[in-house]
Amino acid sequence: MSGATIEDTKQILGQLVAFSTISHDSNLAMVDYLASFFGQLGARVFLQHNEDGEKANLFATLGPEKDGGIVLSGHSDVVPVEGQNWSSDPFKMVERDGRLYGRGTCDMKGFLACCLATARGAAELNLIRPLHFAFTYDEEVGCFGAQALMNELARRGIKPSAALIGEPTMMRVIEGHKGCYEYTTNFVGLEGHGSQPDLGVNAIQYAARFIAHLMELGQRLKDRAMAGSRFDPPWATIQIGRIFGGAGRNIIAGNCSVEWELRPVQPSDAALVKKSLDTFINQQLLPEMKAVSPSANIETIVVGEVEGLQVVAQSEARDIVYEITGANGADVVAFGTEAGLFQEAGISAIICGPGSIEQAHKPNEFVEIDQLKSCLKMLARLQAKLV
Ligand SMILES: [Zn+2]
Repeated sequence: MSGATIEDTKQILGQLVAFSTISHDSNLAMVDYLASFFGQLGARVFLQHNEDGEKANLFATLGPEKDGGIVLSGHSDVVPVEGQNWSSDPFKMVERDGRLYGRGTCDMKGFLACCLATARGAAELNLIRPLHFAFTYDEEVGCFGAQALMNELARRGIKPSAALIGEPTMMRVIEGHKGCYEYTTNFVGLEGHGSQPDLGVNAIQYAARFIAHLMELGQRLKDRAMAGSRFDPPWATIQIGRIFGGAGRNIIAGNCSVEWELRPVQPSDAALVKKSLDTFINQQLLPEMKAVSPSANIETIVVGEVEGLQVVAQSEARDIVYEITGANGADVVAFGTEAGLFQEAGISAIICGPGSIEQAHKPNEFVEIDQLKSCLKMLARLQAKLV
């Protein structure tokens, strides 16, 4: 068996970058490429399409068919390039000064390329534990692919015990991050003439009270910050991102939408916010609105609820990554990943991957070749553990 080489990895990465898998576009061309790549290695492969069939998750397994495998996981989608000033074609990888430039080189096709290069070698071995590859869609817009994949793994009875998510961390080991819950709350009032505000239900004014309540909750969350928390800031946060509503200065606003997000440190933060909002809406706002107009309403749409990654005392994934990287400590980060979803599904999860989050999502995104080499070394040690 020959180990994965950086030349292999670079060549594969160039091919992956050439698929423009921006989240709002299809990723099927790249998924086809991945499926045939793993198919040629003799891996067991399944695809899981989204509702409209435009995108798919790919899940591939090498080694025995049994529980307790290790998952290497990454997302196939990349963020858009519109409005960004690139000095070369973002979908044509360019090597310069020890770096590989192109959309997704860092976030996170560089890791995917390392996985594929490693899989070539692993396919020739007699693995004692399954080695799974989970490549998802729609991570950048709400981790929808990974949420669906967790259900599919359960449905198929596939029970890995640990997952390594290769988001760009400069190969640092990351054991925790906050959750990211995103909502749109729609207020339906009753329009009327501005001179007679009591005859209508002003959706904007109710939305304003809702927002004021969210801000009070934000303060309560601050007070709940745990001593010694390593998060920055150490508490759960609430943020109002956008608001739309109304038709004109002299018209009672019939509609208003508030787009907001909650980033819980611990699941109980989200429970507190949900319970308090439920009480406030159902016992105060809605009765007042409905007293004037029975059809008035408030509805909250869940855009996405991506679980945080909780730091746990015992973690198989962390133990493995310590062993294969030589690291002896782990950090927490502010950005969300799919790791929390694996953890929620009962799979020990850890994050460690090549490249820096500083370069992610930016024009002239790049990954350092040395970072890819470190990642290959880590994966080679992982592979050695599986024989
Ligand atoms: Zn990413």
